[in-house]
Amino acid sequence: MVLQERKSAMTAISPITSISQGHLNIWEICRRKYQYSFLEELSLPEADLQSKKNLLLGSNFHLLMQQKELGLDVAVLASSDPKLQSWLLAFEHQPPAMITGDRLCEHRRTLEMPIKMSLHHSQNSDYGQGYFVLTAIYDFLILGDRQAQILDWKTHQVEIAAEKLKTNWQTRLYLYLLATTTSYTPEQLSMTYWFANTAESVIIPYSQEEYMSTEIKLKQILAEINQAIDYPKLPLHSSDCNYCEFRDRCDRGNLLTSPIPSNIADIPEITI
Ligand code: SF4
Repeated sequence: MVLQERKSAMTAISPITSISQGHLNIWEICRRKYQYSFLEELSLPEADLQSKKNLLLGSNFHLLMQQKELGLDVAVLASSDPKLQSWLLAFEHQPPAMITGDRLCEHRRTLEMPIKMSLHHSQNSDYGQGYFVLTAIYDFLILGDRQAQILDWKTHQVEIAAEKLKTNWQTRLYLYLLATTTSYTPEQLSMTYWFANTAESVIIPYSQEEYMSTEIKLKQILAEINQAIDYPKLPLHSSDCNYCEFRDRCDRGNLLTSPIPSNIADIPEITI
């Protein structure tokens, strides 16, 4: 697998201020992967064309859903691919349950989170920073009178179990950000994943307890990111390496033997 380096690996590692669910998920899986993905910005140019096609189709579906919500004619876009057509039909026949309220598409929400720096870091301007900006972009958000609902469109081949979705940082960060930046209580929030291939929904409720534990974990991870000096690889034979695009670079071979990758982003999306 050939890696393209958008920035040379020799380029000095630059600090990151905006933190998304992708940063958090990858940080928890492998710090070396975090380094390659976000600090050195390595990418795979033509290594996995099928994945790129799938991603493009997925993003076209998001565009279609956005245009549909705006009342635009989506017939031309839907007819550009049989999959888009079938997903649109699935949504029209079996949409997820939705609350009533103000409806927002592709809604971006941010939160500045201060980081407590150690004495060592605060005295050294080369290390550490005072805050991170947590960022989420919601596919669809409905703000009701006493409830708010986040909706996310998934074009994965298979439905992903609720327990896996619940522990993923997309769910944790999106609910945490909404609870912190609005007057809703955590119990008034929920997140619905809708799977276009099966038209099935998975609903994740939220609670004050989960909000508090997410906040503690977030502060811990952000402090780790802020103070990191080295980015170790996972131990040899770690199953997460099997699905990692950097496995050649890390000398981890190319076997894909693990039954299910731990990162949702690594679970195959639709086959065209
Ligand atoms: S191959 Fe393994 S060690 Fe290397 S970046 Fe990927 S997950 Fe980390």
